[in-house]
Amino acid sequence: MKENDIRPKALLQRYIKMSAEDAERHFADNLRIDLPCVACGGIESVHAFDKHGFGYCRCNICGTLYQNPRPSQALFEAFYRNSESSSYWAKVFFPAVAEARREKIFRPRVERLSAMCEESKIRVDRLIDVGAGYGLMLEEWREKFPGAKLVAIEPSADLAEKCRLKGFEVVENIVEQVKRYDDFSDLVVCFEVLEHVYEPLSFLQTLHRLTRPGGMVVVSTLCIDGFDLQTLWEKSNQISPPHHINFLSVDGIHRLFSRAGLQDIKVTTPGLLDVDIVRNASLQNPDILNNQRFLKYLIEDDHRAKIFQRFLSVNQLSSHAWVSAISPD
Ligand SMILES: [Zn+2]
Repeated sequence: MKENDIRPKALLQRYIKMSAEDAERHFADNLRIDLPCVACGGIESVHAFDKHGFGYCRCNICGTLYQNPRPSQALFEAFYRNSESSSYWAKVFFPAVAEARREKIFRPRVERLSAMCEESKIRVDRLIDVGAGYGLMLEEWREKFPGAKLVAIEPSADLAEKCRLKGFEVVENIVEQVKRYDDFSDLVVCFEVLEHVYEPLSFLQTLHRLTRPGGMVVVSTLCIDGFDLQTLWEKSNQISPPHHINFLSVDGIHRLFSRAGLQDIKVTTPGLLDVDIVRNASLQNPDILNNQRFLKYLIEDDHRAKIFQRFLSVNQLSSHAWVSAISPD
């Protein structure tokens, strides 16, 4: 898989530009709140850089990078309800790549998930997808396991409707406000949402609450320890406020999930794109790898790049992480 398959360059550039404009337009209010580390709760964070008017801090205890000081939660909620970049993502960007993503992301995602459930001996009769979007993951799951009860939690009215039309039970709300599903699910999954969440701890506690004792939570997110984020740092397109505000480290992930009362926490980084992302960024801006002769040599050749990416993936060194954890009995 290549970055361009799932994030075509022209659409991505447009989206980045809109995000930067939204950041200025929706967050002109100067009120900022100083937060402890969103992963470990520590208060020893230092300013790392500013981007589009948003500060980012790095936690000295767990290494997590997070947007701080932070505008109010109300501003973020208003932003997601009616910003141009969010609507562009949902109405233009995602539909343009949906089928490519189905094949390259969602189908392998279901394969990986089902293998994890098998390994942990979790029988999935009930599954909740938090931030279900267009319902692609649930569709792929249903195709493979037609008998399971599948629930989509999706706060966006447009996307919730898409899931409803596909025949899924839908809760149209943010997950923290979902009632009547406590201890409901054998498996609760949440892909690519944690990096957007205002309060990761209460979010994880909610995922835990929806999971039956002995059931499993699986989350994917961006990991700051990974190659592309470490190499590109503030120049990374992934660091795009106001959308992405939490970049947990592997240590931070363990601490956060354990604070949320989950056990048997496992982190893997099955990412496939780090090298391609760095290569694309340096093609666009050669200064990024200025004087990094060895790194350039390593990634400019397809064969070496492929082997290096595999090395990153199996050693918790990719920026795309998966976390699984068990709700204690
Ligand atoms: Zn921390």
